[in-house]
Amino acid sequence: MRRITAILSFLLLIPAGSLLAQETPKPPQTPKTQERNPDKFRQMYDLLATPNMYRTASGAPGPEYYQQQADYKIDVELDDKNQKLYGTETITYTNNAKEALDYLWLQLDQNEKAKNSNSPLIDSNKTNPAIAAETFSRQYLEARFDGGFKIEYVKDAQGNPMQYTVNQTMMRVELPKVLQHGEKISLSIKWWYNINQYLLDGGRSGYEHFDKDGNNLYIIAQFYPRMAVYNDVEGWQNQQFWGAGEFALPFGNFEVNITVPADHIMEATGTLLNRNEVFTPAQLARYAEAEKSFDKPVIVATQAEAAAREKGFATTKKTWRFKAENVRDFGIATSRKFIYDAMAVKLGGKNVMAISVYPKEGNPLWEQYSTRVVAHTLKSYSSHTFDFPYPKAVSVHAQDQGMEYPMICWNWGRPDEDGSYTDRTKNGMISVITHEVGHNFFPMIVNSDERQWTWMDEGLNSFLEYVALMEWDPDFPADRGPAKLIVPYMSGSQKGLEPIMTNSESIRQFGNNAYGKPAAALNILRETVMGRELFDYAFKTYANRWKFKHPTPEDFFRTMEDASAFDLDWFWRGWFYTTDYNDIGIKEVKKYFVSNEAPKGVSTAGRKRRNQDHGPMVFMVADGSADFKPGMDKPFNSKDVKTLDDYVQAHFTKEEQAKLTSPKYFYQVTFNKPGGLVMPIIVEITFEDGTKERDVFPAQIWRMNDDEVSRTFATQKVISKIVIDPKQETADVDVSNNSWPKTEEKSKFD
Ligand SMILES: [Zn+2]
Repeated sequence: MRRITAILSFLLLIPAGSLLAQETPKPPQTPKTQERNPDKFRQMYDLLATPNMYRTASGAPGPEYYQQQADYKIDVELDDKNQKLYGTETITYTNNAKEALDYLWLQLDQNEKAKNSNSPLIDSNKTNPAIAAETFSRQYLEARFDGGFKIEYVKDAQGNPMQYTVNQTMMRVELPKVLQHGEKISLSIKWWYNINQYLLDGGRSGYEHFDKDGNNLYIIAQFYPRMAVYNDVEGWQNQQFWGAGEFALPFGNFEVNITVPADHIMEATGTLLNRNEVFTPAQLARYAEAEKSFDKPVIVATQAEAAAREKGFATTKKTWRFKAENVRDFGIATSRKFIYDAMAVKLGGKNVMAISVYPKEGNPLWEQYSTRVVAHTLKSYSSHTFDFPYPKAVSVHAQDQGMEYPMICWNWGRPDEDGSYTDRTKNGMISVITHEVGHNFFPMIVNSDERQWTWMDEGLNSFLEYVALMEWDPDFPADRGPAKLIVPYMSGSQKGLEPIMTNSESIRQFGNNAYGKPAAALNILRETVMGRELFDYAFKTYANRWKFKHPTPEDFFRTMEDASAFDLDWFWRGWFYTTDYNDIGIKEVKKYFVSNEAPKGVSTAGRKRRNQDHGPMVFMVADGSADFKPGMDKPFNSKDVKTLDDYVQAHFTKEEQAKLTSPKYFYQVTFNKPGGLVMPIIVEITFEDGTKERDVFPAQIWRMNDDEVSRTFATQKVISKIVIDPKQETADVDVSNNSWPKTEEKSKFD
């Protein structure tokens, strides 16, 4: 959700100094474990839930895995004049759990905007010395928006009133008798609510009013009482909706009839059942054309038609009928202002429609890019997970929004009034559409609990968003994904950080913590730790194991290891459960020369162990050490070292000798690790002649010593330069210690 907010908070919350991390003093690192134990490679038995018959140790659903089902029949009517929504619904709830249920919990998300909502009371706010008059008025003068569901009744299948209790955004409905395993119950609810003007009152849905033409553009969601999730992990997931932690919803089938003014154009979750009744003959013909257009969108409802409709303000009504199978939620976009375009996308042998609806204010940007980006996103995500299973994906233009629902999402990106736009607006729009359409996969299909874990959908989705954007344009200026982009956050003051494994409501730098850091972490796993082939297979395995199911963090962590044979406990532990950062440096490089002569203090006798004579010794003398003598510093040749030459002549035939390597130089490189994370050491060696060599030492090199490790490099050519992580792929927060010999610090703005 909410890309715009995420980006804004990213900009606002970076302390000014952190962009200049190299020049400012280092923040205090969390205390580094100096003891031998517990070591950073220990398995995560202390952190993960114990595997069971619901969720196995391999990360797959177990033989007893179950999930509840909630099917909805909903009728809603929009009062456009007064911005109210009236609804009735019948929910059929199936208890697939082995245990019986005493009551049901439903979510009343609109109540977050109710006058008695506790949400505004949990934020600390200081008196602002300078405040916009509009803000002052809203804060201190005007009555609070009267939001929230007004529930008229809750009835059982026989029409008898059911007892219910509302606690803020949650409603408990008492059952006349306990609901046993395998039983279904139907209940009907009638309600209405005032629709919020989201640009003023906030929210993931609502309407925008256009002063110039007097029209409203509605993006309607959380508009009906929704079943909470009941499962083996939480029981009822009935944590309140405070505003940040999003939603946890069971799957079900929806039949939704939506009545709006007759001159509205609409899109919503699901298949439109009565297109013949709501489209004009011309629109029907153009839609049929769009169904066969695989290379470019077809305009189905034109801008000229929209301009005419904007003036009509019809008093007649039309009902749009939608049906959706196996979805966790339902969204609606409706307005007189909508232009409509669509194209077809072939995915796994079936055709999916990519669709956009937008007011003229979105053009010329929207007709050019939106539907094309939807089509690209469906293809890219499908190739990394599973074929998109729904019949369509819709991108809706909504100022300042970035929010996802099954098959439909709201996206920002509005040109200036004269139709001009900046690259920032265009690229932001392409990013947000990719992101929100991508949410169809996580969490709409791989249905994680957003109320608890923001990263499970936002992090995984931001990672695939980055992959999709790179496939759209390898030079696309992505703002999340690459390791180095997360450095300012990870190197910031520890006081401002919490681990990724933190509940949604307690995350301060939301965009960095739940989007940027997990996206960078997965990118590092894919590009650096595991490699694309093993990562992609494991990631796909996770997506396929948990599509149309409810995964937990354990299921993700375990599957990634189970399908790849990579022990990643050290990675999950460091990146997801701590706020440690990565900083690896080159402490020292020493040249060594080979000698026949034993240096002082090194006894050859001492080399005999268990009475076994190891034979004649060869000695390595460090450049500049007390044993170093002038003339030693020449390229190594085994002929010059008698003991070695004797050994070679005695042990190898002439043919074998020809196959021996003949290094000429020896370098001992000592790496230190001021950072708390254990990470692979990527070493780029540049030789005198300009050629380069890349060596990667797995993170496990740190398993015996968390502070420093050494490696000896035997080379054919003189080393002129050594650089750690030259492509900045490990989010190393301080690159000033990454080179030997020490080079001038490069500007962070290069
Ligand atoms: Zn998102």
